[in-house]
Amino acid sequence: MPSTVILWLRRDLRLDDNPALQAALVDCDRLVPVYVHDPDSEAPWTPGAASQWWLHGSLASLDGALRILGNRLLIARGDSLAELRRIVATTGATRIHWNRLYDPTTRERDGRIKQALRADGLRVDSHNASLLFEPWEIATGNGEPYRVFTAFWRRCAARLSDVTPLPAPAALPPPPESLVSLPLERLGLQPSIPWDAGLRETWTPGETSALELARTFLQDRVRGYATERDLPAQTGTSELSPHLHFGEIGPRRILTMVKERWGDPTADPVEPFVREIGWREFAHHLIYHYPHTTDEPLDPRFAALPWREEDAERMLLAWQRGETGIPLVDAGMRQLWHTGWMHNRVRMVVASFLTKNLRLPWQAGARWFWDTLVDADLAANSLGWQWSAGCGADAAPYFRIFNPILQGERFDKSGAYVRRWCPELARLPDRYIHQPWTAPTALLDHAGIRIGRDYPAPIVDLKASREAALAAYEVVKSAGR
Ligand SMILES: Cc1cc2nc3c(=O)[nH]c(=O)nc-3n(C[C@H](O)[C@H](O)[C@H](O)COP(=O)(O)OP(=O)(O)OC[C@H]3O[C@@H](n4cnc5c(N)ncnc54)[C@H](O)[C@@H]3O)c2cc1C
Repeated sequence: MPSTVILWLRRDLRLDDNPALQAALVDCDRLVPVYVHDPDSEAPWTPGAASQWWLHGSLASLDGALRILGNRLLIARGDSLAELRRIVATTGATRIHWNRLYDPTTRERDGRIKQALRADGLRVDSHNASLLFEPWEIATGNGEPYRVFTAFWRRCAARLSDVTPLPAPAALPPPPESLVSLPLERLGLQPSIPWDAGLRETWTPGETSALELARTFLQDRVRGYATERDLPAQTGTSELSPHLHFGEIGPRRILTMVKERWGDPTADPVEPFVREIGWREFAHHLIYHYPHTTDEPLDPRFAALPWREEDAERMLLAWQRGETGIPLVDAGMRQLWHTGWMHNRVRMVVASFLTKNLRLPWQAGARWFWDTLVDADLAANSLGWQWSAGCGADAAPYFRIFNPILQGERFDKSGAYVRRWCPELARLPDRYIHQPWTAPTALLDHAGIRIGRDYPAPIVDLKASREAALAAYEVVKSAGR
C-alpha cells in the first residue's frame, strides 16, 4: 500500500522553507498538496477583495511550481474539515501536515480540525512556516507575553543565529491519479468588473517574484532603507508585505539572505530593515496572546473614548475616497485604492487623521484597510491601527497627533507623492502643495484649481479637530483613575 500524505496549504504558498512540506515528504509515495477555499470559516475576517485578487495569482503560481516538480495543486471549496475528510476518503491518506496560523478564528478552526482528524485515526502535525519564533517561545522573565516592542525584539535578536530555513525540494512524489481539482477560476477570486488594473500594473504574486524582489532589495537597496523608508514618493521599502502575508517567502529565508549578503543582521546597514521584520513578529505575538485586539483596544481605558456622532458617515466616506481636502491623506487613500498598498508613513498619517482629527473609530479604518489592502494581515493591521489610535501595545501616545501638513512638508518635500496621486493639484507650487486652501486665489486660478470644485476644501479644521481630540482624551484619562 503506497503511503499517501496530505499537505494542507493556506498562507504558506511556497516550496522554499516550508516545514509542513518537508515533513510530508518523509516516507511519502503520493503527495496531495491541497488548498481548501473556505472563507466562511474565517468570518468575521473573510478575506477582502484585494486579498482575493492576490490569492488567485498566488495559487496559480504555486500550481505552476508544483507541476514543474511532478505534482500539482488540488483545489477544493467548502467546509475545510468536510473537504479534508473527503480527500482522505478518496486517496486513502494516512497523514496530514500544515503550517500554523495565529489569528483567533483560524486557530480555533484548526484546533477543532486537528482533533477531529486525529479522532478519525489520522496522524496530524502542524508546523511553523511564518514566524522566526513561535509566540509562546518568547516571554518575559516572569513568563508573561511582551507588550513593549524593544524588550520583545531584544529577546528575539539574541536568538537570530539559531534561525535557519529549509531548502525547497528538488522533486516531488506524484499525486494519486484519481484526484480531480476544481478549476481555480471557479473560486471566483478575480473581480467580475475589472477594477483591478492598478493591482495588475503594480504586483506579480507568487514565490518566484517574492524571492526575486527580496534578492534585489537585499542586494543593494536595503542600504538606503534607514533614510528612504520614510519618503513615500520613493520605492525605499521592500514592498514584500503581501508576499510575506501569503507566505510566498518566509522570514527565515529573508533573514538568511540578509546574513549571507551583509553578515550581522543586527548591525548597520540592515538593522532598521530587520527590525521591521521584528515588528511583524511582535504583531503575531500580540494577536496570539491578546486575540480580542482585532476588535477591542488592548488598553481598556480607550473603550470609553467618545467617537464622533454627527456626520460620521459622510466623513468616513470622504476618507475612504481620498476626498478629505488634506492632500497627503487623500494621496494615501487613493494609492491604496489604486494599488492595494499604501506606504507605511502615510498609513500612520491617514490612521491618525481618521481616529483623531475625524474622531472615527479605529475599527472602521481597520475594516477599510482589510478590504482594500493586498497585504491585509489581521495581526499587522490590528497592531497598526491600535498603535496609531494610541490604544495598543507600545502605541504612539494618544496626544501625539500627526499634523498631515507638517508630515507632508517633511517627508514629501517636493510634493511628488501628492502630485502623483492627486493630479488635480499637480500645478501648485511646492509651498502650497500640502495646504492648497491657503494659496492665494490668483495662484489657484493659475494652477487651474478652484477649492470646492476641483479639489475639496478640508472636511475638518486641523487645529480645532486636534483640540477636540485632546478634549475627548480627557475622558480616557479619567477612566483610568
Ligand atoms: C494603520 C496601519 C495598518 C497596517 N496594516 C498592515 C497590514 O494589514 N499588513 C501588513 O503587512 N502591514 C501593515 N502595516 C504595517 C506596515 O505599514 C506595512 O507592513 C509596510 O508598509 C509594508 O511595506 P513593505 O513591505 O515595503 O515594508 P518594509 O518596510 O520593507 O518592511 C519589511 C516587512 O516588515 C513587516 N513590517 C514592516 N512594518 C511593520 C509594522 N509596523 N507592523 C508589522 N509588520 C511590519 C512587513 O511584513 C514588511 O513587509 C500597517 C501599518 C499601519 C500604520
